[in-house]
Amino acid sequence: MDRLEMLYRAVIMQHSQTPQNKGELADASAEKTAYNPTCGDMTKVQIKADDEKIDEVQFDGEGCAISMASASIMTDLLKGKTFEDALALISDFTKLVSGGEPEDKQALSEAAALQGVAQFPTRIRCAQLAWKAVEDAIYQVARNE
Ligand code: ZN
Repeated sequence: MDRLEMLYRAVIMQHSQTPQNKGELADASAEKTAYNPTCGDMTKVQIKADDEKIDEVQFDGEGCAISMASASIMTDLLKGKTFEDALALISDFTKLVSGGEPEDKQALSEAAALQGVAQFPTRIRCAQLAWKAVEDAIYQVARNE
């Protein structure tokens, strides 16, 4: 295992053991739940948004280490981002975990640690679950504003 792979594993382990922004969010603007039947992962994502910006984002649920770590990393990354920036990051993350080339890998920060799942097709859905939920939540708020 090379050094980068070790670092990535450490990031995933840390986030799955000590998830950030986990729990119920008071007065959320939107909430979406995503389910991954192949693994049994269930992730609820809530956002509190104002003026097309994510002020707060939290997740809750149960699932494998990859799905929980990915949700935790996602909330850390998207908190405080505008909808436009958040959607660009979600798009780049989707490319990364599907084996594609993200526009701006640097901007993905710790989420880059999940790039290894591209080699394991069954785990891609685990990694994407929270990101799909937050994307749906963003579009729900955007439609209503
Ligand atoms: Zn999973």
